[in-house]
Order: sequence, then structure tokens, then C-alpha cells
Amino acid sequence: MFTQNLHAHGQFDDGKSTLEDMLLASKAAGLTSLGFSVHCPLPFGTDWACPQSSLADYIAEVRRLQEKYAGRIELFLGVEWDVTAEDFDLTPFDYAIGSAHHLPCAMKLPENCPPELAKQFAMDYPSVDDSAEATARCLAGHFGGDADAYAKAYFTEVKKAAAKDDARIVGHFDLLTKFDEARGFFSRKTAAYTAAALDAMEALVHADKIFEINTGAISRGHRSEPYPSRELLCVLREMGGKVTISADTHHVSSVACAYDLAESIARECGFTALWRLARVNGQPAFIPEEL
Ligand SMILES: [Zn+2]
Ligand SMILES: [Zn+2]
Repeated sequence: MFTQNLHAHGQFDDGKSTLEDMLLASKAAGLTSLGFSVHCPLPFGTDWACPQSSLADYIAEVRRLQEKYAGRIELFLGVEWDVTAEDFDLTPFDYAIGSAHHLPCAMKLPENCPPELAKQFAMDYPSVDDSAEATARCLAGHFGGDADAYAKAYFTEVKKAAAKDDARIVGHFDLLTKFDEARGFFSRKTAAYTAAALDAMEALVHADKIFEINTGAISRGHRSEPYPSRELLCVLREMGGKVTISADTHHVSSVACAYDLAESIARECGFTALWRLARVNGQPAFIPEEL
């Protein structure tokens, strides 16, 4: 089994367990290496990202755990950077995951809207993965029900991670399909959907990113398979893309969820290595591990 998880949330964002409990549960599940990936502060209000005021406490807590558990489990300080937080500084972290969770959408304002209000309400940032209802609302309200247009907007956001040098991992590449097994919002076989997905994928592969095979929606009961879809993973392999496995865990019960399944899908798609973060001459660096 792959024994590293670099995607874990805790008490500083929307995780439901403390970082220390997550660490102990990861160790008990057989992981030898763990990275915490707090959601970075965002330029608009959310109930799931780490507020700027808590970031220093998060870093201090990970450093404390690194010392306390040294020699027992390898621990990295990470962050899940969101593309809307364009200027967020990644240098304090050992590694970063680049993800898109929101779609910047222009609002339709009434013609007589006062300029100060127009400025404040000019943009809406609907969530991609909050709930099936939110996806349905956004699809109808902002895209007139055009699923291909929504997909294009989403993959345009994901593609932005290619330009953020220190975000080496691509988080849940096709997150927009989170609720598709139950609701079927997106026709993943249309030419427009495929073109948007592959355009983003190509840019990210060109920037030497490592794609997660992310099991987070399995533990939450929304999907039976990880992100990205098998179809996209097979194309990624043909493009020469790199992959890793992560649990995107928010609770002690899902620290290494469905790793066996993720590994077997990686093999089926023809991957021969999984990339893991290690310390090379004291510095964090990604290295391939035979699959
Ligand atoms: Zn995420
Ligand atoms: Zn996450």
C-alpha cells in the first residue's frame, strides 16, 4: 500500500478532528508519512477556509507535532492553495496543493444599482463542491443550464494552478463531478467538456504538476471512485503525467480511505510510479516510488 497522505484537514479549517488525532489515526492505519494541507485564507468569506488570523497557530501546531512525533511518523507542513487566493505566499510551507473550489461569476445587477453597491456585489463565487443543490443553483443561475459552459469555467480555474510554481500537486482535478453519480449534472463525453478538461490537463502536465488520485468523495459517500475519472487518468498517463494518492481526509475515520482502489485504478491506467514527498538532503522533494 502507498503509505503517504498529503491531503488532510483539521481544526484550523473544515476538518472535524484535531491535527494530533489525525496524525495518530494515520499512524494506526499504517501510513508512515503525512502532510497537513490547511485551506488557505480566501479573498471572500467562507465557512471552510482557514482565517488569516489562525494561520500562524496552524503552522505552530504542525511544527509542535513534527517535534513531538519525530522518528515515529514523517510529517510535512502543507497548504491547499485555492486559485482565487492568487497572491497567497506559499514559501512558509513544505509543499502546496493547487485546487479550484469556486467559480468567479459576474453578477447581473439592476440598472439603477448604486455604484458602491455595484462594486461590492459585482462578483459572486459559487462553490463547486458544497452540495448538489448549490451546483444545481449555480448551473441554472449563472450558466443558463449549460453544463459545458460550467465545465469550461471550472477547468479554466483549475488551469490557473499551472502558473503557481510552488503548488506542485493538483487537487481533485475534476471536482465538479462530485455529485454526478446521483445527479448526473455533466455529460462528460461531450466534445466541449473533454476539450476543456484536456486543455487544463495539458497545461498542468507541461508545468510538471503531480495529479492526486483523491478518494475524499468516497469517504463522504458521494462517489464510488476517486477523482479524476478513469478516462481522464488514462489520458493523463498518455500525456506522461505524474500521479500520487491522497485521502483528502477531514476526519479520523477516513485517513487512508480506498487506497487499494486508487492503486488498482492507477495500475489499470498504466501508471508505474506514484510520487511521494520525501526529505532529500534535508529539503522536501518529490520522488517516484514504484507502483
Ligand atoms: Zn479541496
Ligand atoms: Zn482538501
